[in-house]
Amino acid sequence: MFRKFKGGIKLPHLKPTAGFTIERMKLPSLVVVPLKQHIGAVCEPLVQKGEKVKTGQKIGDSHANLSAPVHSPISGVVKEVRMHPIPTGEEVPSIFIESDGVDEWVETSGIDPEKAGREEILSKIREAGIVGLGGAAFPTHVKLNPPKKVDTLIINGCEGEPFITADHRLMLEYPERIMRGVEIMMKVCGAERAIIAIEEDKRDAEQQLKKFETERIKIAVLPSRYPQGDERHLIKALLRREVPAGGLPFDVGVVVQNVATAKAVADAILDGKPLIERIVTVTGAVRLPKNLLVRIGTLFSALIEECGGPAREYDKIVAGGPMMGFAQWCDIPVIKGTNCVLLMKSVEDEERDCIRCGRCVDVCPMGLEPTMLASFSKKKMFDKCLEYRVTSCDECGCCAYVCPSKIPLVQYIKLAKDALRRSA
Ligand code: SF4
Ligand code: SF4
Repeated sequence: MFRKFKGGIKLPHLKPTAGFTIERMKLPSLVVVPLKQHIGAVCEPLVQKGEKVKTGQKIGDSHANLSAPVHSPISGVVKEVRMHPIPTGEEVPSIFIESDGVDEWVETSGIDPEKAGREEILSKIREAGIVGLGGAAFPTHVKLNPPKKVDTLIINGCEGEPFITADHRLMLEYPERIMRGVEIMMKVCGAERAIIAIEEDKRDAEQQLKKFETERIKIAVLPSRYPQGDERHLIKALLRREVPAGGLPFDVGVVVQNVATAKAVADAILDGKPLIERIVTVTGAVRLPKNLLVRIGTLFSALIEECGGPAREYDKIVAGGPMMGFAQWCDIPVIKGTNCVLLMKSVEDEERDCIRCGRCVDVCPMGLEPTMLASFSKKKMFDKCLEYRVTSCDECGCCAYVCPSKIPLVQYIKLAKDALRRSA
């Protein structure tokens, strides 16, 4: 029996693209490849303006441990290297590449994970530029090399946010590859067992993965309750272990990875393929919503065009889902962590005074008091926010979703976190 996490919400099952097979998008004529698409250090460019590049060629890297190299997603010519915004809102140095329309690849080769040693596999994962594809974009070679012994690898296939179906389709269409990736990751991080966690609204994915279940790799189906996919809640539900405040999953003997990351690891090890493409759900107010296999660096405008353009009025493009996504204000590129592009019409809701109903407190899975955090943040009392554990907020959005006064609680919380980060 799984242990439920406290709080959270039952979201409507709004996933219109769940039945749509993954389609490969046509090659973009231009890509913008940010030199930072991950948590960690910015890469240095390895190419210059005017230089020819091949698909899969490494074009940026860093000596820092917490970083991941980037590769050219197409073959063509480097047009320029300059600052450009990414979906998180940051401006980072980015390489603009114009396609030659050929898609000429660098030579790649895989290794045999049975024969290769742990260090060799870790190095290959790093060289392929793999980061967590569930959105967090933490370098995978670092996460798979924890400083403490772990016994369990959890593979996150929950994908609980409305509209996003990229991981769901991946589990349906590439179950064997995902399993190969899981086996490789177990060998590297030293886990004796792996659990692939799926929410109960994806029974078809469970059926597919079950075909490849083994003694050491099991599938677990959890209730659909947002944010079940959060690492801490997953660990609690599956293993009844509690990650301490300020701690990380390895503190309780666990590594958590995403299903798409597992497939990327299999592709890198078995075929030598660097991370140059990913699946993105393009949905909302587009004519033809799709699950697209997209080259990293493709601009959002090209994705929208590929999906027939807007079908109706929209005023917001969101990178990610409606709960945790980032609204975009200009044409930005798909990065490694982009799982969804959602066109939305804003709902005009005026913020009203807090009526002290306590609903935000009831749903907060981290046991916080969102109403107090927002109130302190509004008054710029950021030290009080710290005292009320603002840094424990994972920005899941449950509090703002249920607030009858339409207070943008997460925005106030983010404001406080940013202010504290800047003053640190
Ligand atoms: S966004 Fe933060 S404060 Fe709000 S419910 Fe989620 S964890 Fe709690
Ligand atoms: S849900 Fe909104 S109105 Fe109710 S206590 Fe929280 S902030 Fe106040």
